[in-house]
Amino acid sequence: MPVLVLRVRPKTFPFLRLPREIRDLIYELVLVEPPNHQRRHVATCSAASLTPSSPEIPPFVTEAKAPFPGFPAFDGCRCANRSHLAVLLTNRQAYEEGSRVLWTKNVFSFHTIDSFNQWFADKKQLKQEGERQSLQRNRHIRDHLATRKAERKRVRGTK
Ligand SMILES: [Zn+2]
Repeated sequence: MPVLVLRVRPKTFPFLRLPREIRDLIYELVLVEPPNHQRRHVATCSAASLTPSSPEIPPFVTEAKAPFPGFPAFDGCRCANRSHLAVLLTNRQAYEEGSRVLWTKNVFSFHTIDSFNQWFADKKQLKQEGERQSLQRNRHIRDHLATRKAERKRVRGTK
């Protein structure tokens, strides 16, 4: 009697089993983008110019007020934002490897010194928040382990 064997292929691609050099090339393709001052608005953005020769507000300008004389007020858009950063949230290994590519292969530019200072302050605040959460997590784990140790000691003492 013939036997039919069905094999189910894994639904996810084993990305982390690729050689590191290949993974780095993929991170580079995904995470390296032109600097803000070289970007253009996407065609569907309301700030995109309708003709190639007409000027447009650069995507990195995020202020709501008119950024330059003669330009209308601009509510900002997301055209200058980096895309595909979610790959860094895949897991710790992807974060470590992808972050290295993101921060070493990209050019970061700022419209004004104030925008740089704001960006830097945000990064510093995020780092401090992450460290605070890590400390809280470690404190919680330490308290939990101390409670378990005390409980084991108490149980041993009653036997
Ligand atoms: Zn835009």
